Amino acid sequence: MSWFDEIPSIATDSTLAAMEACKADTHEKKVDLSPGIYHDDNSSTWVLPSVKKAREVLLADKSLNHNLQPQNGHPGLVSVARELTFSDTLDGRSIASMQAISGTGANHLVARFLSDVLQPKTVWFSNPTWENHREIWRHVNPAINQRNYPYYDDRTSTIDSQGMLSTLRGHASRGDVIILQACAHNPTGVDPSRELWEAIAAVCEEKGLFPVFDSAYQGFATGNIDNDAWAIRHFATRSNGTMEFAVAQSFSKNFGLYGERVGALHIVTRSNESAAKAEAKLKKIQRAEITSTPSFGAKIVATIVQNPALREQWQQDLQTMSGRLQDMRKRLYDELTKRNTPGNWSHLLTDIGMFSMTGLSPKRVAVLRNNFHVYLLPTSRLAVPCLTTGNVEYVAESIHQVLT
Ligand code: PMP
Repeated sequence: MSWFDEIPSIATDSTLAAMEACKADTHEKKVDLSPGIYHDDNSSTWVLPSVKKAREVLLADKSLNHNLQPQNGHPGLVSVARELTFSDTLDGRSIASMQAISGTGANHLVARFLSDVLQPKTVWFSNPTWENHREIWRHVNPAINQRNYPYYDDRTSTIDSQGMLSTLRGHASRGDVIILQACAHNPTGVDPSRELWEAIAAVCEEKGLFPVFDSAYQGFATGNIDNDAWAIRHFATRSNGTMEFAVAQSFSKNFGLYGERVGALHIVTRSNESAAKAEAKLKKIQRAEITSTPSFGAKIVATIVQNPALREQWQQDLQTMSGRLQDMRKRLYDELTKRNTPGNWSHLLTDIGMFSMTGLSPKRVAVLRNNFHVYLLPTSRLAVPCLTTGNVEYVAESIHQVLT
């Protein structure tokens, strides 16, 4: 008899489960298309040249130490996080900003903060969304209802704009929280148009919803930081800068700093007084949960963004990553259409960022895995950065076999 006998068995998160299963698979042709991690064409996790240079700068600095950071994080990191997110829309807005433990930590921190301060009845997620969103909110407060708004129409591989807007108009209530992904939506690879973003912002205003942007892929949608922050900056400037909302920001993907856990949370408020209160509350939560955020990755990001030559290199690195994703999308599309594989694959060319839905049923995803050793998520999500010139033909042929 142990104190722990009563713990119910817990299923592993499907992304981690697929990665583990592929790791254990010994087949020589296995392909893991499950993780949202950028790889180069040799299937290696890529260290960005800008990051390598920033590391050299930091390690050459004799005064580099390992002190705790100030309570809202590394000042340089917080400053560049704000600039990259809001640019000149920062002027005239009162924003509380805190470093956070990457995107997951920022999502957790905002959930904790809003659960305490706003006490929402319901939190709304796109259907589908990153699977950890629900888990984070359930973990923070299981009493908050979780509901989906329609997002992806798998018959057309596009956004169900009407369904999304009418569900929110008809069923969301004042004070509810809505989670929005700023760009390169995970898992669908489909983002709202600018017109749809304007309509979403209008519904949030009409209904009194509190929007939380999850910004995990800035730079991965278009290769351009400013284009990819358009929706956030629209919310920041709309209605004479009166909307209140939050941004949970990750630097895992756009700097390739997955294991360093660098991110930030911004609470956009209506007055300096509200921002100061929000900041004090965030500090109190961080103190109880982690005391201080990790510093090395934060210093890397700050060094790159604050140094014009390194920043220029980073812009090129973003182009390299988004360019390779485009190339792989095109190659997969060509291989499938060459074979006349059943289905409409043109969305592979227009989808954005790291992911696309292949539309395979869970049964076919299992056949792909068991018979061909190609690993997707059960939802059929394919991680484009895991395609390479060496495996794309095999992946296309395997999908073809499964569908014919
Ligand atoms: N949000 C979304 C939409 C994501 O896809 C991810 C990573 N898969 C994250 C947040 C969190 O990433 P991290 O904690 O590594 O920054």
